[in-house]
This record gives sequence, structure tokens and C-alpha cells, in this order.
Amino acid sequence: MAHDIPTRRSWVNLDTGALEDNFRLLRSLAPEGAECVAVVKADAYGHGLGICAPAAARAGAQWLGVTSVEEGVAARAACPEARILIMCGAFPGQAAAVIAHRLTPVVWESWQIADLQAAARAAGLGARALAVHLEIDTGMSRQGVRSGDLKPVLAQIATSSPLRVEAVMTHLYASDEADLLRTAKQMKELEQALSVIAPALQPEWLSVGASSALLGGTAAKIAALAARWNLRPMLRLGLALYGVAPRFEPAFARGDEPASLRRGWAELRPVLSWKSHVVSVREIPAGAEVGYNGTFVATEPMRVALVAAGYADGLDRRLSNRFSLLIRGQRAPLVGRVSMDHCVVDVTEIEGVRPGDEVVLLGRQDGETISAYDHADATGTIPWEVFTRIGSRVARIAE
Ligand SMILES: *Cc1c(COP(=O)(O)O)cnc(C)c1O
Repeated sequence: MAHDIPTRRSWVNLDTGALEDNFRLLRSLAPEGAECVAVVKADAYGHGLGICAPAAARAGAQWLGVTSVEEGVAARAACPEARILIMCGAFPGQAAAVIAHRLTPVVWESWQIADLQAAARAAGLGARALAVHLEIDTGMSRQGVRSGDLKPVLAQIATSSPLRVEAVMTHLYASDEADLLRTAKQMKELEQALSVIAPALQPEWLSVGASSALLGGTAAKIAALAARWNLRPMLRLGLALYGVAPRFEPAFARGDEPASLRRGWAELRPVLSWKSHVVSVREIPAGAEVGYNGTFVATEPMRVALVAAGYADGLDRRLSNRFSLLIRGQRAPLVGRVSMDHCVVDVTEIEGVRPGDEVVLLGRQDGETISAYDHADATGTIPWEVFTRIGSRVARIAE
């Protein structure tokens, strides 16, 4: 049977058709005239930029959102036509690369503006030739200018500047709370900033809201605010694009969920499946210990299978002795500690397991499913982290 064993230890399959359908669904749920940025930062949430960015573009995404100039350069190579938003801005010395690769940086610090202006002048760009998105800190205390500190920024981006503030941007930090109290406060703060910026700089877009804002119904409020200032709304969508609807906490009252959230639950399809295979199967007697430090001891004779994936592949070590993987459509409990390159599962109750059998770490097998939320709940984190922890040695393969 040895010839049946896959040579890859662990791999990710990507359903690009699902990603394309997800993008089209999200765009149909967005307010009329809204632009939907496909967020492909962090290697497309660990899914693989080189496969996911072109899929988003095929589905009609005009904009891609990434973290850094380095990620922007990689996105440019994958999508020569797309607009590419650098959501965490450029670092000193990167402004020439921003121009060369036609990237659109978020700005909020005076040195970022000065760097970009100097590079744009050096490149011979005229007034308003280089688009930037100006971020406002509306309450998250992360990136952005406070609305009370806008004056010097506006003075720095005078009409002769080679920079054009194409969008006013902010990030909602609690749009997954169904009561939306924090979001309402942020929107008020944003309107305050718009009243200063919009008359002075005539931006085109109001860039606010991620997956939870779209699915949770905040997008309509963003669109209304944009319309009051003659702007078009721009949403920046990540998690939902990959087929996972964010949870709301506190949740909406049962039956009171926005229609968009119900559509998300019903129609978004996970893009990623993470798989490995059985390397070998062994019988162990009662009293045998499994894995480092013998944290699992067999209380009776058992059959266990060695799986070719460990924490270096992104399988969280905190799942040791408290999670199951799928083999032959059944749940096989992890026994003993997850090690760097391996884990061991109990297959005593599963008929006929043999080397080469497919193991699903995340995804579906014969009607059984392990979701990103299952992983996240078992390790006290969120699906965003589960996806982005999948290791770089795990091949990403388009289905
Ligand atoms: C990651 C990110 C998003 C996308 O968030 P999701 O919740 O994954 O949709 C949007 N905007 C900014 C600034 C981000 O950093």
C-alpha cells in the first residue's frame, strides 16, 4: 500500500469558485454604488495571495486590500490591473516603491505625507496625481488622525500637493456587537471629521466597514453618511470573502438578525480545506503512553494513527487531547501532545483506517465538518488567527 501514500505531508485546497461566489454575494448585499475592497492581506488570510487575489479580480473586485508595501508588490504581480490599498501605510524609504508599483497607501502621520510628497515630486508627478486614503481615528486608538488634530494635516496637503485624498477612511472596532453602540459613536466622530475634510479636499470615497459591518446592517448607515457628504461608500471585506460569517457578541436577538446576516449564514461557502494523511497505524496496549511526556495513557488496547501535520504546520498545540480530526467521515480524537511535525489520533472506533487515508484538519469530509470557529473555540481565539497560523510549508492548491 505504500505507493498510495501522498507525498505532501499537509496541504490546503482552495475552492476559488466559492471565493468568486462569495465576492459576488457580498457585493449584492452592499448598498447601491458601494465599492467592495477584497481584503487579501496576510497572504489572503493564510489562504494564498497568488490564488485568491486573481479569483477576487475575476469575480469583479476592482480593489485589493493588503497590509504593507511588500504585500502590495506581491499583489501587483498577481493582479496588474487592480487598485491596491496599503492599509497599514508605508514605512520611511518605501514611497518610491509605492509610486513605482501604483499602490495606494493609507496615511495618518505627517512624516508619511512628507515622504510621499517628496517621492512624488522627485518622480515628476503633478498636483493631486498620487491618491492616498486618509485614516481618521474614531475611537480605536490604533491608526488615524483624531478629528481635533486635522488642521495641520489639511495644511500639509494643500491644493498644490501631489497627493490627492481620494478616500476618508476609518476602522470600526465593534461592528460585531449587535447593539452597535460603539459603532454609533464612531460614526458621529467620523461625521465630525468629514465636516472638516470634505469641503477642503473633496474626497471621492468614504471607506468604512468590514465583513461584520456589511452583514450586520451597518453598511446602510455608512452609505447614508457617505451620501450626506456626496461621497461613495467603500467597504473592506476579509473574513466573509473566505466564506466565514463573523459572529456577533452580544448576538442579535433570535429572529431579529439582519437579512444580510441570514444570507451570509445560508450562502457563504468556506474557501479553504486543510488536509493531511495517515502515515502509519499501530495497536497499543493498555498502559501505553502517547506523545511527549505521556499526557495520554491508553486505558485499554487501542488503535492509533500517525498524521503528518503538527504545530509547525499551524495545528495549535493547545488542541492536544481536546480536539478531533476527520478520517473516513468520522471524528478521530487527538491523543497526546501535538508535536512539531505530527499528531496522533485515536482510530479504535473507525473501521479500516490505513496509511494514505485522507485526514481533514479543517473542512468537510463525507458530510462531517470542522470549521474555523471549531478550531478557534477550542483554542480561545478567532477564525482570523486560525487561518493565518496555517504554516508557510503547507502548500496552497487551487481545486
Ligand atoms: C483586516 C481589515 C479589514 C477586513 O476585516 P474582516 O473583518 O476580515 O472583514 C478591513 N479593514 C481593515 C483596516 C483591516 O485591517
